[in-house]
Amino acid sequence: MLDTPTNRPDLPPEIARRRTFAIISHPDAGKTTLTEKFLLFGGAIQMAGQVRAKGEARRTRSDFMQMEKDRGISVSASAMSFDYKTFRFNLVDTPGHSDFSEDTYRTLTAVDAAVMVIDGAKGVESQTRKLFEVCRLRDLPILTFCNKMDRESRDTFDIIDEIQENLAIDVTPASWPIGVGSDFIGCYDILRDRLELIDRKDRNRVAESIEINGLDDPKLADHVPAHLLDKLVEEVEMAKELLPTLDPQSVLEGHMTPIWFGSAINSFGVKELMDGIGAYGPEPQVQSAEPRKIAPEETKVSGFVFKVQANMDPKHRDRVAFVRMASGHFNRGMKLTHVRTKKPMTISAPVLFLASDRELAEEAWAGDIIGIPNHGQLRIGDTLTEGEALRVSGIPSFAPELLQSCRAGDPMKAKHLEKALMQFAEEGAAKVFKPTFGSGFIVGVVGALQFEVLGSRIELEYGLPVRFEASQFTSARWVKGDRQAVDKFVNANKQHIAEDHDGDVVYLTRLQWDIDRVDRDYPDIQLTATKEMM
Ligand code: GDP
Repeated sequence: MLDTPTNRPDLPPEIARRRTFAIISHPDAGKTTLTEKFLLFGGAIQMAGQVRAKGEARRTRSDFMQMEKDRGISVSASAMSFDYKTFRFNLVDTPGHSDFSEDTYRTLTAVDAAVMVIDGAKGVESQTRKLFEVCRLRDLPILTFCNKMDRESRDTFDIIDEIQENLAIDVTPASWPIGVGSDFIGCYDILRDRLELIDRKDRNRVAESIEINGLDDPKLADHVPAHLLDKLVEEVEMAKELLPTLDPQSVLEGHMTPIWFGSAINSFGVKELMDGIGAYGPEPQVQSAEPRKIAPEETKVSGFVFKVQANMDPKHRDRVAFVRMASGHFNRGMKLTHVRTKKPMTISAPVLFLASDRELAEEAWAGDIIGIPNHGQLRIGDTLTEGEALRVSGIPSFAPELLQSCRAGDPMKAKHLEKALMQFAEEGAAKVFKPTFGSGFIVGVVGALQFEVLGSRIELEYGLPVRFEASQFTSARWVKGDRQAVDKFVNANKQHIAEDHDGDVVYLTRLQWDIDRVDRDYPDIQLTATKEMM
């Protein structure tokens, strides 16, 4: 039996049934296919293939989107809601490309768990590893799905060992594959003591589920060929001896991951994984905030912006702020306080993302993700409450690793360029610095591809051709300290000083040596590589 752990026993049922999670994986491991099957079993789409088909229709809309498609990356994160059994799943999509790590990081601040998909033939790949490290920073519970078992895959113990060693996390098998590649016939469900077999005639159907009574049940021989059965019994016995048994508390704390084996393309193993998300998900967790934490069961509504996406609809220059509800029961039309500006905001047209359609959200509970269209008031890291001055913490902004200067093709358009750049800065797509000396802007990103994406978007969305050129600077650090110390520092280092889009002081340099010198010569000043968004 799956015993559902809970560290939040007092949650209202509507909140307790929510599971908000993301999928992390290396490109090509099968995230899209798995998502599609989730939606299929969640009743959100009628036919597999719809997500992709809709995605493609959407993508052909613009050259920029074309670029995403050509490169096989998804730049924008979206959220999808669907029901499965008694659960409401909120799946938050993470951008797949390594260049978008900052965006991904922030996306992962909005979920309570992650599903890690690995390719059974390839094991733990570079991008999986990076994303895993991000999850670890927050001790997110991780459920693992080992995909493509219908292909020649690695030895099961090898895969488990690799995860344990490479990611330093305990792995416990929730299921065990029977046969490999063309011999793969299904899995033994360790948690529920039953066989899940693929339909031999139609590999697209999930066939039978056979209750058994332990691995010495004679019934097994009716379903599993002798040579596979011997191997299965031997392996599962060995696994029980060598591998830890499932400890729900340890999963919840992010120290242990249960692993399911399957084949997303054949819909195989997907329901078991979904049951696992329901059982070990977990439910919406307490959110860190200042000056106090926010518990999901609080009756007052609160939420925070973890992503802003501009120009989702090129005809309307709207922006959608993606808000993770942290507490309470939200109803459409509610008036919430925008804590940063202390201004009230009536949320009259919030959207829910059902499969790939947007729909008006009449209500939302803690754990849900809603989109709030706005004209730029809502920024990443902003908190909305029913009046209390709470600020959700832990949504960082990283110092960019690559800097280039940006100029408008037409020098008369510098003002337009500033507007476009500021918008992208607010969206979190880039850092924009305005140097005290000289004209133009310095744009900072985490991955090189982002320059191209920005260039295409500025041209497409603002009709403004731009040039990116090498900058004399290679690093940016935020300057912290008391007012007097900062003023003194700024005056003595003018040629290195710029402001970011919030008006905060930034120190630009090309040498680590400079940063060390500041540390030495200005004990009252701190140069930091992150700042909390507020
Ligand atoms: P993503 O890049 O992680 O989103 O991966 P996709 O879902 O697009 O899958 C990458 C490729 O692997 C596609 O050609 C899929 O058809 C294929 N694929 C996905 N799941 C499976 C599976 O279970 N078995 C096999 N053989 N191929 C799969």
